[in-house]
Amino acid sequence: MNLFSFAFVIALAVATLTRVWLTQRHMRYIQAHRAAVPPAFANDIALDAHQKAADYNGAKGRLGMVHTLADSAVLLLLTFGGLLQVFDDWARSWFAVELLRGTALIALFAVFTSASDLPFSWYRTFNIEARFGFNRMTPSMWLADLAKTAALGAALGLPLVLTVLWLMDEMGQWWWLYVWLVWVGFSVFMMAVYPAFIAPLFNKFAPMQDGSLKARIENLMLKCGFRSSGLFVMDGSRRSSHGNAYFTGFGKTKRIVFFDTLISRLTESEIEAVLAHELGHFKLRHVIRRMLWSFGVSLALLGLLGYLKDKAWFYQGLGVAYPTTNAMALILFALVVPVFTFLLRPLLAMYSRKHEFEADAYAARYSSAHELVTALVKLYKDNAATLTPDPLHSAFYDSHPPASVRIARLQNLTAS
Ligand SMILES: [Zn+2]
Repeated sequence: MNLFSFAFVIALAVATLTRVWLTQRHMRYIQAHRAAVPPAFANDIALDAHQKAADYNGAKGRLGMVHTLADSAVLLLLTFGGLLQVFDDWARSWFAVELLRGTALIALFAVFTSASDLPFSWYRTFNIEARFGFNRMTPSMWLADLAKTAALGAALGLPLVLTVLWLMDEMGQWWWLYVWLVWVGFSVFMMAVYPAFIAPLFNKFAPMQDGSLKARIENLMLKCGFRSSGLFVMDGSRRSSHGNAYFTGFGKTKRIVFFDTLISRLTESEIEAVLAHELGHFKLRHVIRRMLWSFGVSLALLGLLGYLKDKAWFYQGLGVAYPTTNAMALILFALVVPVFTFLLRPLLAMYSRKHEFEADAYAARYSSAHELVTALVKLYKDNAATLTPDPLHSAFYDSHPPASVRIARLQNLTAS
């Protein structure tokens, strides 16, 4: 134990307690507003749907608190509990070559942390989502998804890890710049191959049928000056009744994907308004700006790791013997960064909500604010999203503005 151990334990305690406290506030707030639908939604959402949303969000909150506590326990077990040291001893007994020993350590770590999340994923799907009528997955589908994700993780992750560890070993003090370039290249490669090669492993994508909806969407895209290589409908209903629409890929592979669940629930003019919002994110350069931000942040973090990598106090402060492998540096860094940056989350959430307001305004200009409002109300209702989040919880976490604030803004846009 050293000074860094204390800093880490304090940061972890602050993050964990803040999370639990915010979730409790959120659940109490929802419970306190369970008895009546907020006036702005009273015409469109019935009391039983509002109460279902309160119970659904309550169940998610309870699971979330257990998950938070379990994650913190896993983190302590890996570091001060000595589990990472045990994994490293195993890896060393299997491989004499440091590159392979490091890769084995990262693989053991990845398998362990993914496995510790599985009970939560299972409970969420087959208990909470099932209880509120959202789940459409069977246990065998869940297992098949898991097997595919693991195979994909190995096929893409192992070459990446080998490359990164090799660079850390061979490139001297500027290794982190090379690793950053590889990371940027890998991210861009993933964005390019995801729509055509990875997403189809999990869902079926059918080109949208010709008809009035397609004509309407093409007309909107023309108006907004947006080119894409295709409009697709995805069988989201295979897994869940939650609906959505999204963009994927970039450049030539850019496509627009609608969940079948969204198309079946919204009218054509509502779908158009939802798409106009998504086009807004693209046209207002939110997508590219976020990507550049993430590349900038990863450069700064890798620079920081470049500094920490040879500091004995960094390892010893987290319960790991030094000297050790580069792989251990990567793992420890990945574990502690989220703990120390947790309190920056409200800033990220605020940045995201600003973009949501801008995309809503874009949709109002190119499509219809009124249609977007009716679409959102349907989606809140269908997804049992809460209409009454705790304001502090929402400010801290929410990437989207609270329902009432968002709708009030859109209605003002219609009025003016
Ligand atoms: Zn949005």
